[in-house]
Parts: sequence; structure tokens; C-alpha cells
Amino acid sequence: MIISIASGKGGTGKTTVALLMALSNPNAAVLDCDVEEPNCHLFLLPTWEEEQPIEIMIPQLNKEKCTGCGRCSEVCLFNAIAVGSNKALLFDELCHSCGGCLLVCPNEAWTESRKEIGKVRQGRAIDVVPGARLISGMLNIGVPNAAPLIKANIYLEL
Ligand code: SF4
Ligand code: SF4
Repeated sequence: MIISIASGKGGTGKTTVALLMALSNPNAAVLDCDVEEPNCHLFLLPTWEEEQPIEIMIPQLNKEKCTGCGRCSEVCLFNAIAVGSNKALLFDELCHSCGGCLLVCPNEAWTESRKEIGKVRQGRAIDVVPGARLISGMLNIGVPNAAPLIKANIYLEL
């Protein structure tokens, strides 16, 4: 069974409710999906057993191949590509990894590269709730799009 505790203004007690539920069930696995500022570990005091970096796809430009036609910029719904001086320019913090630019470029000027956006850690709260597991995502500073890390946090548990 999965119980989600979500939404609500900060300070309303989501973490408190989630942790009290974990306290009542030593077989519980707590997923802290507040990846921008996780805090369940401050209460459960887990011993971390595993840490996994999470990466997303980011396009990389081969400037030699780019003719500045602008197709990639037109197809990018997130305005992550501009074209100036007959060359494309990527603003990777705006990229949502859809891969559209790779598909439309007539010169195959884009290739895929990887960018680490954060980590997911797994551990056990040995002292506070013996046996309870904690899975907690931590977004890197400056990364604007938390969704891929939240998904990774959930899928690692499922
Ligand atoms: S579609 Fe390809 S050739 Fe055209 S601007 Fe973008 S990278 Fe350059
Ligand atoms: S992968 Fe998608 S979001 Fe990222 S730059 Fe290319 S078209 Fe834009």
C-alpha cells in the first residue's frame, strides 16, 4: 500500500504526519520526495546504505556541423535554444530533455550527453524506528527542474 502525503502550505505538518505513520509501522518505507529540501532524515537519523547519482539527458552541440538554420530553436518548447551568429546556443538549465532538437536537426549537430541533477540515498533508521527504510532525493543546487529526480526517487522504491 502506498500512502501519499502531499501539498499544503509549508509548516502544516506533512513531514510530522508521514513520520508518525512510519513510527507506527516498523515495516514502512518512507520516501522523502521533497527533493529541493528533504528533511525526513533529520528525524529518522538513518544509516545510509546506498547513494545513487541521478542523471538526465542534455543535448550537446557540434558547432562544426551547425549551419544556424534555427529548426532546433523553433521546436524547443522550453526556449532552451537560441540561434545567433549562425550557431545554436543551448541554455541547459531550461532544457527538459525531450530530445526534439536531436530529431529535427538536418545536420545531426546535436548529440546526447549526461548531466547529474542530484542523488537518491537509501538507508535504515536503526535507532529511531528500528527497521524502517528511508529513500530520500537531494537535488543539486541551481537545478530548476525537480521532476526527474522525484520520479527516480519513487521508481527506485517501486
Ligand atoms: S537545427 Fe541543427 S543546424 Fe539548425 S541551428 Fe539547430 S543545431 Fe544548427
Ligand atoms: S532536448 Fe528538448 S528541451 Fe532540451 S534543448 Fe532540445 S528541444 Fe529543448
